[in-house]
Amino acid sequence: MKCILWTAGDISSRIAELGRQIATDYEGKAPLVLGVLKGSFMFYSDLVRAIEPCPRGLTMDFIRASSYGSGTESTGDVKLKTDLKKEKVAGRHVLLVEDIVDTALTITTVIRYLEEECDVASVRTATLLDKHERRVLSYKPEYVGFTCPNEFVVGYGLDFDEEYRSIPYIGVLKPECYAHLGIKPEPAESGESGDE
Ligand code: 5GP
Ligand code: MG
Ligand code: MG
Repeated sequence: MKCILWTAGDISSRIAELGRQIATDYEGKAPLVLGVLKGSFMFYSDLVRAIEPCPRGLTMDFIRASSYGSGTESTGDVKLKTDLKKEKVAGRHVLLVEDIVDTALTITTVIRYLEEECDVASVRTATLLDKHERRVLSYKPEYVGFTCPNEFVVGYGLDFDEEYRSIPYIGVLKPECYAHLGIKPEPAESGESGDE
């Protein structure tokens, strides 16, 4: 790792704060907490446990979104995979859980799907990281763990070429970790490969 941005301790303290805020905001609303896979799996499992006291009727589900093709840049062509039953989602207050909002192409595609095809009552987003400098679409998530610098980060669910997801903290990779793939270190060209 070139540097560690947030330790496991930093992450868990911030999630405890987010969880309390979400519990207050969703009291009496029976939220559907919808994780955007794969990157959010670790944040999701810690966040749902931090939503304390747990609002009655809270249920959990997942959707897969792949924002990149095989190339290194977001194509804007976001593919969703889900077995959500539209009739079960209709009328629900959905809380999306994301690992990172970068260009915002992924999250806005998921939101459009929920609003236009599933008839949800409301949608908000809890993202662990917000890399707002790289926005292509203007979008402001309601719950943000940390503002992320314009670097390609890994760990705590976030991958590089499917590796590093299991690391319990978040950091920036050393350039030699991806040199063998012929990818340059600049964030805009840093090989966000086929991510979900
Ligand atoms: P978007 O550009 O659509 O907002 O973000 C799409 C996805 O790209 C994110 O959900 C995340 O999985 C991935 N992504 C964006 N920035 C980074 C980063 O710095 N590191 C990693 N590992 N993935 C990222
Ligand atoms: Mg993601
Ligand atoms: Mg990825």
